[in-house]
Amino acid sequence: MRVLVVEDEVKMAGLLKRGLEEEGYAVAVAPDGQEALWLTSEDTFDAVVLDVMLPDMNGFEVCQQMRAAGRWSPVLMLTARDAVADRVTGLDAGADDYLAKPFSFAELTARLRALVRRGAPERPVVMRLGGLSLDPATHRVDRRGTSVDLTSKEFALLEYLMRHPGEVLTRTRLIEHVWDFAYDGDSNLVDVYIRYLRDKIDRPFGADSIQTVRGAGYRMREEPVDAAADTG
Ligand code: CA
Repeated sequence: MRVLVVEDEVKMAGLLKRGLEEEGYAVAVAPDGQEALWLTSEDTFDAVVLDVMLPDMNGFEVCQQMRAAGRWSPVLMLTARDAVADRVTGLDAGADDYLAKPFSFAELTARLRALVRRGAPERPVVMRLGGLSLDPATHRVDRRGTSVDLTSKEFALLEYLMRHPGEVLTRTRLIEHVWDFAYDGDSNLVDVYIRYLRDKIDRPFGADSIQTVRGAGYRMREEPVDAAADTG
């Protein structure tokens, strides 16, 4: 079993390497995010132990970029504190488990064994709706094969809409799920972003995927009307 340890603190990295080798793992160490991304692109690991605090980029970004590059080794994140926000961010970034520092070595190896046994997580399924396709793993969106560039918020909004086709989604619900902060009641943030989205995914294609439901919110058409496809 091959494990990659991503940790910049020399002492901690050394302890992990020796400890895991005693458990029978083959261990590679990366001191920063760039090195970790390079190693995971060159080699397949049965698990990655990934510290959140790294000198060049944080562990969440490393994990996200690994997933975006199609590397699906199970990732155990080491967080500095037992913060709920860190756990959620880690899981959102595609981590499989987390462990708060300081931890006992016995717990680390137990978690690692469980992850290795479970194997690589399944790649998220590409979502398709009408002529739109959205890949949650690589953050790519295209309409009938033409790729569409979205900002991360536009992407998150579209992903949420596509996960709930046909449902009327209120602005409050969209704010809560896409922006993660309390709605102040008079923000037109959602309308602004819906406009951005329409300008990118609909208008250039003569399509109309996102319906405005007056006084209620927005609805993703279950089968977006795709004008060009309709007329052949
Ligand atoms: Ca560190």
